[in-house]
Amino acid sequence: MRATATDADVLIVGAGPTGLLLAGDLAGAGVACTVLERRVEDSSLTRAFAVHARTLEELDARGVADELVETGATVGSLAVFGGVRLALSQLETRFPFVLVTPQYHTERLLAERARALGAELVRGAEVTGLRQDTGGVDLEVRTKAAGDGEWVAGTRRASYVVGTDGVRSTVRHALGLPFPGRSIARSLMLADVRLAETPPGVLTANGTGRSFAFIAPFGDGWYRVIAWNRRHQVPDSEPVDFDELRAVTRDALGTDYGMRDPRWTSRFHSDERQAPTYRVGRVFLAGDAAHVHSPAGGLGMNTGLQDAANLGWKLAAAVQGSAPDGLLDSYQRERYPVGTQVLRTSDALLRAAFAQSRALRAVRGVAAALATRIKPVADHFAGRITALGVSYPAPHGAHPLTGKRAADVPLAVTADDSGEQTPGPRSDRLVPPRLYEALRGGQFVLLAPALGTEAAARLRDAVAPWIDRVDVATPATATSPPTWLLVRPDAYVAWASNEPDPAAGTEALRAALASWCGAPTPAQAET
Ligand SMILES: Cc1cc2nc3c(=O)[nH]c(=O)nc-3n(C[C@H](O)[C@H](O)[C@H](O)COP(=O)(O)OP(=O)(O)OC[C@H]3O[C@@H](n4cnc5c(N)ncnc54)[C@H](O)[C@@H]3O)c2cc1C
Repeated sequence: MRATATDADVLIVGAGPTGLLLAGDLAGAGVACTVLERRVEDSSLTRAFAVHARTLEELDARGVADELVETGATVGSLAVFGGVRLALSQLETRFPFVLVTPQYHTERLLAERARALGAELVRGAEVTGLRQDTGGVDLEVRTKAAGDGEWVAGTRRASYVVGTDGVRSTVRHALGLPFPGRSIARSLMLADVRLAETPPGVLTANGTGRSFAFIAPFGDGWYRVIAWNRRHQVPDSEPVDFDELRAVTRDALGTDYGMRDPRWTSRFHSDERQAPTYRVGRVFLAGDAAHVHSPAGGLGMNTGLQDAANLGWKLAAAVQGSAPDGLLDSYQRERYPVGTQVLRTSDALLRAAFAQSRALRAVRGVAAALATRIKPVADHFAGRITALGVSYPAPHGAHPLTGKRAADVPLAVTADDSGEQTPGPRSDRLVPPRLYEALRGGQFVLLAPALGTEAAARLRDAVAPWIDRVDVATPATATSPPTWLLVRPDAYVAWASNEPDPAAGTEALRAALASWCGAPTPAQAET
């Protein structure tokens, strides 16, 4: 047994989508981070197919959304039940759809981004335990060199550790955290098949009470089928009978579309669980390690990616010593309730899909019709599924936009490093023309109204001590009343104001910058 010690600012356990997005964000912020992944080879298995609008926005703020969209098919409405559809095409976002693409495309793009930004990805490295003290965290790691059969035990130390190691998280277990919840669906059949006939929609799903079936395309001629047979519930170890799968699909969908050539089959059961806390000292949990639920609604990977987007910039600020008090704790405060809500939404969708009695099914139909046809209800429902409706707690008396998602807006006037305001159109010196492009630097973005010369000078003075952490830009379209928005790196509003007097506005702004971006850098504070 050989002991090794490698220092990193942050060690991430698990190279699933959550860990990979986090690694890219940390590396992009200049944080030394290493991802330890048990698997030696890339996984060709895929679980998630649905990438929702808010996730695509977060990926857009990292410059990878458009490339991901090219890998799949987009769906402008979601089948809820019995022919009822939830329209997404009216959503106010660049991505008014569900992207249907296999999870491995998302993982590949995030891995490429993380590596390009300088994150280290170590395969064949299994974390088996952890210890933490006031200065850092030691991980016990078994490492297997490529082409070498032997596992070598060692330790790695970092200032912080994030467990993104999935539903059976070793990190969660090593922290001694329970994973309370229950099993909610057993004996779900999975199969990758070819179809003789192409289904009419990109996603196909229906449940009859006796049976349920779902079909999604890989985009290369193969399809993923998920099916459930109420009358044949067996352990996960029982092989999938292809004839049963076809019969259940016919029962649920009216046809099996000429299903043939299964290249892979499996059974799984679905749990609904949430860790009681996402942080213990210097160790954090994110993604399936923190919460798990049924695949209904396609929310799991999306929620994990949004956990990572919330945690990355906070952890980077902590490593760099600029995090204001309480910033790291805000991860739990903001993301835990979202996880709970996601469990509820997914549970409601699963219950509705599997509803057995006629009465329940009738109620389900009425509820689905209401949820999709009455606009405020439909908007609320769409906000839950797409996560566009997620917002974070705001202090009492704060501006109503505080904590809300910052919508992408075109930018007209920006400030360069000296704080000098420069009118559009875009030149190489300028912040890019959309807010989400401006966020690609991993900074806060202050959206300020167009200002006269004196007010612009006051703004410059106010922001100067934080100019290493804040970009300044002006929306192309003025709002009435003029609105100041301090947008966090994860595209949520940290602070907002309709203060008409820019001088007074910048005073409030200084307080907001200090409370979100931390202490001003000494050298810049002196200038
Ligand atoms: C059938 C099915 C369909 C789904 N469909 C959707 C969908 O459409 N949309 C959606 O958003 N979600 C969906 N999900 C859920 C989604 O797949 C998961 O939520 C997502 O993969 C979680 O990502 P993660 O990075 O948190 O964890 P994982 O993807 O589980 O990654 C964890 C990684 O950690 C590694 N690891 C584990 N233990 C260790 C260790 N001790 N040391 C080192 N490495 C370790 C693993 O090898 C793995 O690579 C579906 C799930 C299922 C089962």
